[in-house]
Amino acid sequence: MSHPMQNLLDLDPASLDHWFAQRGEKPFRARQVSRWIHQRYAADIASMTDLAKSLRTALVRDAEIRAPGVLRDTTASDGTRKWLLDAGSGNAVEAVYIPEDDRGTLCISSQAGCALDCAFCSTGRQGFNRNLTTGEIVGQLWHANRTLRTEAIRAAKPQAWGDHTRAPITNVVMMGMGEPLANFDNVVPALRLFLDDNAYGLSRRRVTLSTSGLVPWIDRLRDECPVALAVSLHAPTDALRDRLVPINRKHPLSTLMAACLRYLDRAPRDFLTFEYVMLDGVNDQPEHAASLIALVRDVPCKLNLIPFNPFPGSGFTTSPRERIRGFAHALQDAGIVATIRKTRGQDIDAACGQLAGQVNDRTKHRLAARIPLAGAHQGHLPSATHS
Ligand code: SAH
Ligand code: SF4
Repeated sequence: MSHPMQNLLDLDPASLDHWFAQRGEKPFRARQVSRWIHQRYAADIASMTDLAKSLRTALVRDAEIRAPGVLRDTTASDGTRKWLLDAGSGNAVEAVYIPEDDRGTLCISSQAGCALDCAFCSTGRQGFNRNLTTGEIVGQLWHANRTLRTEAIRAAKPQAWGDHTRAPITNVVMMGMGEPLANFDNVVPALRLFLDDNAYGLSRRRVTLSTSGLVPWIDRLRDECPVALAVSLHAPTDALRDRLVPINRKHPLSTLMAACLRYLDRAPRDFLTFEYVMLDGVNDQPEHAASLIALVRDVPCKLNLIPFNPFPGSGFTTSPRERIRGFAHALQDAGIVATIRKTRGQDIDAACGQLAGQVNDRTKHRLAARIPLAGAHQGHLPSATHS
């Protein structure tokens, strides 16, 4: 009887143990194979030379290590590098590597497209196509480490922050395409691999998941795998947030803030960041800063102001630099830790919210198509149903 090939990138540590146990193999074999895959970035089971020959032969027959194929590989003038990856059926997702002096960050995608339809987001504009599998999510980190490590060794040029035996990627942010909590069942196993000592071994504070605020899933993440959390706030009142982040109509600010406080019960206090995209004339006025201060005053958090990254037809412009600074100062004067995100990779459309992949029009899968806009002011915002 023939079995489908098992993609080993799909298995989190417990599932890999289980898979080996079912084959009558000891758990230490699973850990050994995990280190080959996730620490030495082996693509080929036959290269795992310290495995017994009989095991290797059986694995070659039944298993594979399959990361998404690379469709395009682009490097920006500031060193930011974007991989466009094949997500099947004409879809593509993007992973972005952001090198800094003391770390290497990889921004990972969780879905091809996104159904949540935030007004200022290029991914949302594409609509939703499909959830990535665990293997496709983990495969982004595996691929980036493998490529960067191979290139460093070939160039015999250790990375600036250490020797090339260390993994090139030191931090992971789930801030690429898609809403990670809407793909919870595939994302959590990937997070477990990011944290596992026999896989990527990253500490919880070096793995950040960004969400637009799916409240029930924030609670599940707290219970199952509490990594650093970034919450896309973007507006300090329900009236404005309903328009910018439509999921707010289902999970309004009061329930979102309560979920954040519950999250902090389980996570260290520096584990919560609020993201706030700065949209000219929309959410960047002194009264917005005042409401924001009132909203987050009792929540231990950092605020990260993101200059809006434009894309064609977005209908928004970025707040002027001075206004962003003034907004940050107002927060800081109220005792809130506020930073302004440095925009990276803009010349290759790799900055936050510019990731679009190549999904086709999926307008019917967008949230706004299902949640009526009744009561939402259009103002000078683009219509949320506009595609
Ligand atoms: N879906 C998740 C994670 C992906 S988006 C979320 O919404 O949090 C990562 C961050 O980029 C979010 O804070 C998102 O609101 C922000 N973002 C989206 N479009 C943007 C744009 N055009 N400019 C700047 N930031 C943007
Ligand atoms: Fe989806 Fe996040 Fe974009 Fe909103 S900002 S549409 S949740 S990817």
